[in-house]
Amino acid sequence: VVRIEGLHKSFGHLEVVRGVDMEVRRGEVVVIFGRSGSGKSTVLRCVNFIEDPTAGSIEVSGMRLEGGYRTRRKREQVRQLRLHVGMVFQQFNLFPNMTVLDNVTCAPRCAGKGSNDEIKKRGLELLERVGLADKSAEHPIRLSGGQQQRVAIARALAMEPDVMLFDEPTSALDPELTGEVLSVMKTLSTDLHMTMMVVTHEMGFAREVADRMAFFHHGKILEEGVPSELIAAPQHRETSAFLDAVL
Ligand code: ATP
Ligand code: MG
Repeated sequence: VVRIEGLHKSFGHLEVVRGVDMEVRRGEVVVIFGRSGSGKSTVLRCVNFIEDPTAGSIEVSGMRLEGGYRTRRKREQVRQLRLHVGMVFQQFNLFPNMTVLDNVTCAPRCAGKGSNDEIKKRGLELLERVGLADKSAEHPIRLSGGQQQRVAIARALAMEPDVMLFDEPTSALDPELTGEVLSVMKTLSTDLHMTMMVVTHEMGFAREVADRMAFFHHGKILEEGVPSELIAAPQHRETSAFLDAVL
């Protein structure tokens, strides 16, 4: 579903991503981890062109786009590509003045994805899926962080993306709330076979849910593998030092 080839990203003189290649097949869950500043968020943001790659290409659902130039045609292609990508951030970024249900349904409504009744019905189904059917009329401010993040997940799912990107979805949450978010994410994989790229340091989640994990170091993938193997026997000193710190 996603193919990242030769990805580079610089901010001015600072080269943050220095040659990343990665493929995520349909239904796969890939966990990305690594030290602060290693370029994890930047790679994720390049996948949906929130950041335009300095060089390299991104393919999503058969649509391939190069970084490093800007044209009107490309802007339209980016818009198309984003329809296939859902993203969930560390900060939930819900619309505070809208109800939970309106948060979830506003994108499909703007895109004209079905009648109002259909969109509302589907929104309620999504809230059910994340365990918040009873909160549909609430405003986000009245919800816990974990509940808000689950709304953000439902909102991203509402556009029926082919891939979901998660950038440290639980790191802003109190520890007792991370479990509910991770377990919703797990059901996306087990029940919906959702393709996911997840930046997280939750090694329990990685071990249980991820098909592969990739350790980022100075803008490159230093090491990649099956979670159980990579966690048990990292091949690089940097990887094992990092794992020792988070486990
Ligand atoms: P963290 O674990 O702290 O989230 P990360 O691995 O996600 O780190 P990135 O957010 O990708 O790291 O950032 C990598 C580097 O790029 C950092 O040094 C950061 O300061 C820099 N950077 C990121 N975005 C920008 C920007 N828009 N302009 C300038 N520098 C940036
Ligand atoms: Mg980050």
